[in-house]
Amino acid sequence: MRLILLGPPGAGKGTQAQRLVQRHGIVQLSTGDMLRAAVAAQTPTGLIAKDIMASGGLVPDEVVVSIIADRIEQDDAKNGFILDGFPRTVPQAEALDALLKKKKLKLDAVIELRVNESALLARVEKRVAEMLERGESVRADDTPEVLSKRLANYREQTEPLVHHYSDKRKLITIDGMMPIEEVTAEIERVLAAVTKADETTQAAKRKVAAKRAASPSKAPKAAKKTSSKGAKAKVKSKAKSKARRVVKKATKKVAKKAIGKAAKKVSKSSSATRGGSKKKAAKAAGNRTGRAAKAVAGRGRKAAKKVAKRRSKPAKRLTKRR
Ligand code: AMP
Repeated sequence: MRLILLGPPGAGKGTQAQRLVQRHGIVQLSTGDMLRAAVAAQTPTGLIAKDIMASGGLVPDEVVVSIIADRIEQDDAKNGFILDGFPRTVPQAEALDALLKKKKLKLDAVIELRVNESALLARVEKRVAEMLERGESVRADDTPEVLSKRLANYREQTEPLVHHYSDKRKLITIDGMMPIEEVTAEIERVLAAVTKADETTQAAKRKVAAKRAASPSKAPKAAKKTSSKGAKAKVKSKAKSKARRVVKKATKKVAKKAIGKAAKKVSKSSSATRGGSKKKAAKAAGNRTGRAAKAVAGRGRKAAKKVAKRRSKPAKRLTKRR
């Protein structure tokens, strides 16, 4: 499972992330924690981040994006992760989209913890008091002045991510003002629904793939193409053979007429021709008859082509509309 926890400072992201880690066996990737570790270790990243963090500003996008790109590559993140405090700007979200796409990883949900801003200051003050009680060192950016700057940054730079992820149909908003246990229960309830919906989609996809594998001839696109091509050819050849039959009939009729006429002429000329044999006259008449038949056949072929063309036109229109 891959999740993003979205919410202003003090919304309870850290607390809920730890509960998700225990329940789902996935890792919490908090850019705030990683940057604090870098500051403590005085790494080059830590040196860049130190003053920015202390003043409540945002560390440059390219720095945090490269930290996350390296971190999700590690073995413990293979099972899934919860991003806590990242992304915080639209460019960071876009970089994450590209990163996940490149690695063919799916984001399951973005959980937004919505809280009342006026309640946040009280929450942070309570957190500071509890840390001091436990003898822990207090974060340099957990003061009222820095907190108001972090809140302003959230409103301006991070809140637009609500639209980014709701456009992608990934956003789930939960009332972060409820008691911690209720927030946890609500997160678990929506995650169960997300998992179930995902399983249903996967099962439907497998069913379609199995159906296609069982009868490849029913592959929709190819079938459409083949059937439309086949239908077109069928109509064309039917029209052609009908036209041929019509022409043949007409040719026979004309030839018969011509032969009759020629025969009459032959009988006339044979009686008139001195020395000319009946056979010769008949041959001449036959030649004339043959020429007439040929001419008719020629015209007939042209007609046949025309008819075939006309007949094939509706078929063309039919396939186009489809
Ligand atoms: P957090 O612990 O999430 O409240 O983060 C503490 C501080 O670390 C922030 O106020 C920022 O200065 C810096 N930081 C953490 N995550 C990011 C991020 N994704 N982009 C920029 N700065 C960050």
